[in-house]
Amino acid sequence: MKYKVKCWECGKEIENNFLDACPSCNGTLTIEMDLSHLEGTSPQDLRTRPIGVWRYDHFLPIGSKPVTLQEGGTPLYDCERTADELNLRQLHVKFEGANPTGSFKDRGMTVGVSRALELGCKVVGCASTGNTSASLAAYAAKAGLKCVVLLPSGKVALGKLAQAMFFGAKVITVDGNFDDALRVVRELSRAGDLYMLNSVNPFRPEGQKTLAFEILDQLDFQLPDRIIYPVGNAANIWAAYKALKEWQSLGWIDELPMLTGVQAGGSAPLVNSFAHGQEDFRPVEDPETVATAIRIGNPASGRKALKAVYDTGGVMTAVSDREIIEAQFMLGRNEGVGVEPASAASIAGLKRLLDEGKISRREKVVCVCTGHVLKDPDTVMANCGQLIKTEATIEAVRKVIG
Ligand SMILES: *Cc1c(COP(=O)(O)O)cnc(C)c1O
Ligand SMILES: [Zn+2]
Repeated sequence: MKYKVKCWECGKEIENNFLDACPSCNGTLTIEMDLSHLEGTSPQDLRTRPIGVWRYDHFLPIGSKPVTLQEGGTPLYDCERTADELNLRQLHVKFEGANPTGSFKDRGMTVGVSRALELGCKVVGCASTGNTSASLAAYAAKAGLKCVVLLPSGKVALGKLAQAMFFGAKVITVDGNFDDALRVVRELSRAGDLYMLNSVNPFRPEGQKTLAFEILDQLDFQLPDRIIYPVGNAANIWAAYKALKEWQSLGWIDELPMLTGVQAGGSAPLVNSFAHGQEDFRPVEDPETVATAIRIGNPASGRKALKAVYDTGGVMTAVSDREIIEAQFMLGRNEGVGVEPASAASIAGLKRLLDEGKISRREKVVCVCTGHVLKDPDTVMANCGQLIKTEATIEAVRKVIG
C-alpha cells in the first residue's frame, strides 16, 4: 500500500503529516493511491472477504492493523413501492444508518483514527453538526484516545449529542454555527492541541470511498445511471467521485454514474454555483435547515464536489425543509426504512428533479441515505400525529382503533 498526500489545487506533495491545507496555496489536500499492483485483477477478486470498509483495503492508505467497529456492509434496498410512487424505473437506497454509530461517518473514521494511531497522536478532535462527533467519540474509545468535539450551540440532534457524551468525549458547544466550530478546531490542530479528524483530513474521504465501492459490488458491478447524495461539507460526494475514478483507472468500470448532489434550500451555496456553471462558490452566511447534518454555509470540499458533479454529468438541486420531511416520512411508510432528515434530502431531490424533467423516469437510481432516523427523534415527533391515550380496557382501545 503506497500513496502520496498532495494538494488538490496545485499538486504540491505534502510531507508534513499534520497539515490540513496546502502551505503554498491553501488548497485542500487529497491522497493519491498507487494502485499499480492491482493491474490485471478484477473487483470480484476482493469478494473473498466480508463486505465492509476493509474489503477494499487496497484503496485505503493504512498499513497498520486498523481500528475497526466493523463499519460498512450496509444494506442496499430495492425500493419498489417508492419507485412506483415516483414512476421511476428503479430505485435503490443505500442505508448508511446501519453503520455502528448510525451514519456513514464511520467509514471515514475507521481510517482516520487508524491514521491517528499510526502517527502516535494522543488526542483527536473535530467540529461537527453531530454525526462526526458521535463517530469520532466511538472510534476514539475503541482506540483508547482522548477525544474533543466542538458543536454549534443548539441545533444538534439529540441522538448525536447523546452518543458523543456517552462514548466519553469532551463535548463543547461553541457560540456560533458549524463553520465557526470548524475554524476553531483548525486553529487548535495547527497549534498542536489535537489531531483533527474533520473531512478536510484527507484520510477521512479515503474511507468514505467504500460507500461507492459497496454500491457497485452490491449491484454485481452493473452500474446505476445515477447516485444521489445529500451534500453538506461536501466530502462524501467527492469521495464517491474519487472511488469511481480509481476503479475506472483500473478498467474495473467503463463509465461513471452521474453524481448528483442535494442541498437544503437554506444552506445551498453549491447549488447556486452549479446553476451558473461556476467552479467556485460564495459561502452562505447564516445557513438554516431542519436537516442539521447539512446545515453548512461554507463547505470545505465544495470545489471538489462541484468537479465531481460536472465531470460525471450530474446535477445539483436544493429542496425545502417541507420536501425533506415529506420524503423522510414517505421512505418510512413505503419501505420501513428510517433515515434522518439530511439523508432524506437525497430522496426529496430525486422527486424534485423527476418533476422538473432533469432526471429521466427510465433511469436506475441509487439514493444514499446517510444517517439513522433515531439520530433526531425530536424532528420525527414534531411531524407525527398525536399520541393516543386511553383507559386500560379492551373497550376503550377498540374505540380508538375504530
Ligand atoms: C455528514 C453528513 C452529511 C453530509 O456529508 P458531507 O460529506 O458533509 O457532504 C449528510 N447526511 C448526514 C446524515 C451526515 O451525517
Ligand atoms: Zn497547493
